[in-house]
Amino acid sequence: MDFQRWQVGACTLTSVVENETAHIPPGLFFVGVKEEDVARHASWLVPDFADERGRVTLRVQAFVVESRGRRVLVDPCVGNFKNRPMPFWNQQNWPFLERFAAAGFAPERIDTVVHTHLHADHCGWDTRLRDGAWVPTFPGARHLYTQAELDWIRAESNSGIDGVYEDSIAPILEAGLGDVVPPDLDLGGGLRLEATPGHTPGHVSLWVESEGETALVSGDFLHHPVQCAELEWAETGDDDPDQARATRRRVLGRAADTRALFLGTHFATRPAGRVERRGEAFRFVPL
Ligand SMILES: [Zn+2]
Ligand SMILES: [Zn+2]
Repeated sequence: MDFQRWQVGACTLTSVVENETAHIPPGLFFVGVKEEDVARHASWLVPDFADERGRVTLRVQAFVVESRGRRVLVDPCVGNFKNRPMPFWNQQNWPFLERFAAAGFAPERIDTVVHTHLHADHCGWDTRLRDGAWVPTFPGARHLYTQAELDWIRAESNSGIDGVYEDSIAPILEAGLGDVVPPDLDLGGGLRLEATPGHTPGHVSLWVESEGETALVSGDFLHHPVQCAELEWAETGDDDPDQARATRRRVLGRAADTRALFLGTHFATRPAGRVERRGEAFRFVPL
């Protein structure tokens, strides 16, 4: 499936998929979690989000939000031909831009790129390789960054492990296409950022409001629907697990209470749905 599309009031939200992987041992992503821990939730996770054994499915996708003539791209995935320490992200060659075009979008006509955070799978397509150089993919777009996130990635990349800053962020800033914005930025047109820290220090999520309807694009304050029920489960990449737990509890609560259409950035198969309260925790109910 190349893309999926939902309507929220007068706004249109589209998922463009880079890659989806099933049968992943949950311990690879969730600290100390075993297959049987996930399998306890099989009644509502299988088949969309896990298999019967409790291995999880995860997707890498970007969302495009169209609102009042604007086209805002959220979290443009891993990208092609990037050198990455993660073997499944290293030197990939996905038909992402072909799917992007099939969904009706031209890179030149994206006017804003929102990054929930700056992990490798959320800003990769900001640049593409042309004649041996990394050049902006979305040359007409303002690329938004929070100061806390830039500070964090600069410190991370100083350790020399990743290369994301060098190949996917620095070329944008050097081209004059980057803006440092507050984590509660009102973008206009019913689009608003909210600080959702913990997974990374400058992490934000995107609220969309139109004609009395609401949607939330999560980013990585949670990675999988099972975390709606298992609020304590930390993801291996969470920078501050306790802060991430507090963020999950707070933001999932508001998503439930506002009946927002919840779009999980790494949710597979059917990534849009409602968050419902179940006692002290929650359940994700896909559309
Ligand atoms: Zn992340
Ligand atoms: Zn991610």
